[in-house]
Amino acid sequence: MEVSVADPAERTLRIPDVVTAGMPLRDTRMRPLRDLRISVTDRCNFRCVYCMPKEVFGRDYAFLPRRELLSFEEIERVARAFVGLGVEKIRLTGGEPLLRKDLEFLVERLAALRTPLGKDVDLTLTTNGSLLSRKAGALRDAGLKRVSVSLDSIDEAVFQRMNGVGFPAALVLEGIEAAQRAGFAPVKVNMVVKRGVNDAQILPMARHFRGTGVEVRYIEFMDVGTSNGWNMESVVPSSAVVRCIDEAYPLVPTGRENPSATSVRYRYADGQGEIGVISSVSQPFCGDCTRLRLSADGRLYTCLFASHGLDIRAPMRNGDSDDALRRRVADLWMRRADRYSEQRGENSAARRLPKVEMSFIGG
Ligand code: SAM
Ligand code: SF4
Ligand code: SF4
Repeated sequence: MEVSVADPAERTLRIPDVVTAGMPLRDTRMRPLRDLRISVTDRCNFRCVYCMPKEVFGRDYAFLPRRELLSFEEIERVARAFVGLGVEKIRLTGGEPLLRKDLEFLVERLAALRTPLGKDVDLTLTTNGSLLSRKAGALRDAGLKRVSVSLDSIDEAVFQRMNGVGFPAALVLEGIEAAQRAGFAPVKVNMVVKRGVNDAQILPMARHFRGTGVEVRYIEFMDVGTSNGWNMESVVPSSAVVRCIDEAYPLVPTGRENPSATSVRYRYADGQGEIGVISSVSQPFCGDCTRLRLSADGRLYTCLFASHGLDIRAPMRNGDSDDALRRRVADLWMRRADRYSEQRGENSAARRLPKVEMSFIGG
């Protein structure tokens, strides 16, 4: 079977030839496929104001029924196909991924994957940390090496208001410590900054984690989904975050870890560690975006702001071979043209379509 590819001159190229030739798959903007984010559940025990506001995600909200979720076997199968197509990094996410029962068994399967060149896949997890003190050891034993924990404030009142369910920051901090004790390195902390809500916590968070080996990553509040009431006034640009911290603790820019990394890093001039800023709104990085997202019900989204995903669960359950699965994925990637964040200011068609919720595809 032939597939459509970006360059018409390549139209006769078959997917397996592309892959076995060691050429990474490229989309229409020549971006390789490198990262896969896997959402293992659309459920969460938090109701963060910027993600799942409780007015929208209330008691009667219809989450996915169990049978609609990909099984661990199915997730492993998809991940294996992706690794065969050039994916080097996999992030488990949600909803809250640690709500998925026995997640460590999935971690074990994914940690065993190797790239075609025999390298380990860089496997990581993003969690709200609420169950981490219980789970850190098992996840580490299963082969997980890195973890990112979301924490928007160390002030109890601010954090409890922001997570929408009054969950204590102290318990998330316990989870972070448990992760460090279990040997996760580095542990990263994600803080979404929303003006007027937790921007006064930028410096206290930096102060708290300096010198602890934890890297805080400040994330600009994004217009993901349609329910978080986003507006530009609520966004604190990363430049202001850096200025605020630099005044108290001088910073030295160290750039991105690699071209497709989302965060730009700074180190403390006094050697007390690093911070990162993720500037998806003020300085979009679509040009280097190598990420594909798999929802818990088996849909592939080529952009965080996509309005629909390609269903691969149905073909898989209807008997697609591994080769057919790889072709589907490859074809999707080679047609990809997304650059939503670069178009945010424009009145483009992409801007007006309904978007998938963050809790559905996991950030
Ligand atoms: N529940 C897990 C957690 O909170 O870490 C994983 C899923 S959560 C959707 C993944 C990441 O997306 C979190 O770090 C969260 O803070 C971030 N996030 C959610 N909504 C966001 C928004 N509107 N703007 C920026 N980041 C957001
Ligand atoms: Fe849940 Fe994470 Fe969204 Fe907060 S950011 S509501 S913890 S999925
Ligand atoms: Fe990637 Fe879409 Fe985000 Fe741009 S807006 S960086 S294409 S996910």
